[in-house]
Amino acid sequence: MFALKALRSFSPATKNVYLRSKQAFSGTVSRMQHGQVQHVEIAAPFRPETPMAKTLMDIGTRRIFSEEHDLFRQNVRRFFQEEVVPDHAQWEKAGEVSREVWEKAGEHGLLGIYTPEEHGGIGGDLFSAAIVWEEQMYCNCSGPGFSLHSEIVMPYISHYGSKAQIEHYIPQMTAGKCIGAIAMTEPGAGSDLQGVKTFAKKDGTDWILNGSKVFISNGWMSDMVIVVAVTNREAKTAAHGMSLFLVDSGTKGFQKGRKLEKLGLKAQDTAELFFEDVRLPAEALLGQVNKGFYYMMTELPQERLYIAVMALASCEFMFEETRNYVMQRKAFGRTIADLQVVQHKLAELKTDICVGRAFIDSCLQLHNEKDLDLSTAAMAKYWATDLQNRVATQCLQLHGGWGYMWEYPIAKAFADSRVQPIFGGTNEIMKELISRNIVSKI
Ligand SMILES: Cc1cc2nc3c(=O)[nH]c(=O)nc-3n(C[C@H](O)[C@H](O)[C@H](O)COP(=O)(O)OP(=O)(O)OC[C@H]3O[C@@H](n4cnc5c(N)ncnc54)[C@H](O)[C@@H]3O)c2cc1C
Repeated sequence: MFALKALRSFSPATKNVYLRSKQAFSGTVSRMQHGQVQHVEIAAPFRPETPMAKTLMDIGTRRIFSEEHDLFRQNVRRFFQEEVVPDHAQWEKAGEVSREVWEKAGEHGLLGIYTPEEHGGIGGDLFSAAIVWEEQMYCNCSGPGFSLHSEIVMPYISHYGSKAQIEHYIPQMTAGKCIGAIAMTEPGAGSDLQGVKTFAKKDGTDWILNGSKVFISNGWMSDMVIVVAVTNREAKTAAHGMSLFLVDSGTKGFQKGRKLEKLGLKAQDTAELFFEDVRLPAEALLGQVNKGFYYMMTELPQERLYIAVMALASCEFMFEETRNYVMQRKAFGRTIADLQVVQHKLAELKTDICVGRAFIDSCLQLHNEKDLDLSTAAMAKYWATDLQNRVATQCLQLHGGWGYMWEYPIAKAFADSRVQPIFGGTNEIMKELISRNIVSKI
């Protein structure tokens, strides 16, 4: 159902491929035997796991996906190859992607996939959303902040927003016409969110917002930002006195600072945001007053899961990129892939990645059943992003000096990987969460 919806924007020929494949893989086939029509159950076709597949990025693999997902993945892959890859180098120089690519992603049904249709989202499943995360990594183009917009910002509105807020924001966000960001971090408060100083003071039914935020992804291009602010300085803990506000770009007193120059994620617009006496109506409050911290804790497993999924997909991309490179690169009269030390390195990398893939897919399954807890999501984020950095270092090494050149995809993948253990909660904080859970069970 969802795949059909997402295919709406594709050509009739593509839709026919989808329909034919759906018939081909349906559960029963009819055939004539001894002059009678017989209906025979056919087993679902075998789906190899990644260790068995020809490449780690093959379509048609992994038990968590279906043939419908495969068709969707083909289309998403084509979208990234046609609409993102050709412009990415230019966006890296600009420090931002184009507005058009957001709208095109909207037209192709790639935004808000996991947001319910009745709220104005696509109403697809988690696995389809994951396909978009993975395909973005497979094309090594980190610029468009689609996943943050779709699977972090939109769920806050969908889960805690009023009917009016949902109706106002979600359809526009699904269409890529309203870009979302979320602003928690401040110059003095990152890991320790309870140190947030941005303050919203009640003034009649309005709120007056003052403060600043830093490192905000999609911050420069955003049309709407979810801002975390203190609303009760006398609360028994800081966590009991925080709220979330929906602040539109262009609101008086809301200024965007510079686009920050970064080590990686060059095409992503990461910005500082300033709020000076920003008057917000009561309707800008998201959910209930002083419940913001609770909402953030509830939404974090999904954020950590998507970072983990993207990290693993990046590992798969880097592995394939490196495999191709070493099979072509000549040294001492043969390819470097002929060297046993290189072969063993590839064997180690592939094994590590495939072991990681099994865990991350199982986390995807858990989250699909709404069973992924905070501690398991923290394990996924910490382990997958650390693996990504180990894989990046080793794959770059196998490229020699060329791996250090920006024109080589591995250089970009290496630079992009470095932030992964930092944002979405640092990996040290992930270990705090995991260990708290271990100790509390003793
Ligand atoms: C590219 C990029 C994009 C980002 N996007 C967003 C965004 O969209 N929205 C947003 O709100 N934020 C965003 N962030 C911010 C990010 O979430 C924070 O940088 C991160 O949470 C860490 O906070 P900090 O930088 O203040 O580091 P700090 O909290 O100062 O940490 C410094 C070091 O101390 C360690 N440390 C701190 N506390 C502990 C502890 N209790 N135990 C052990 N070690 C500890 C940390 O692990 C880290 O190694 C982004 C950051 C970057 C770099």
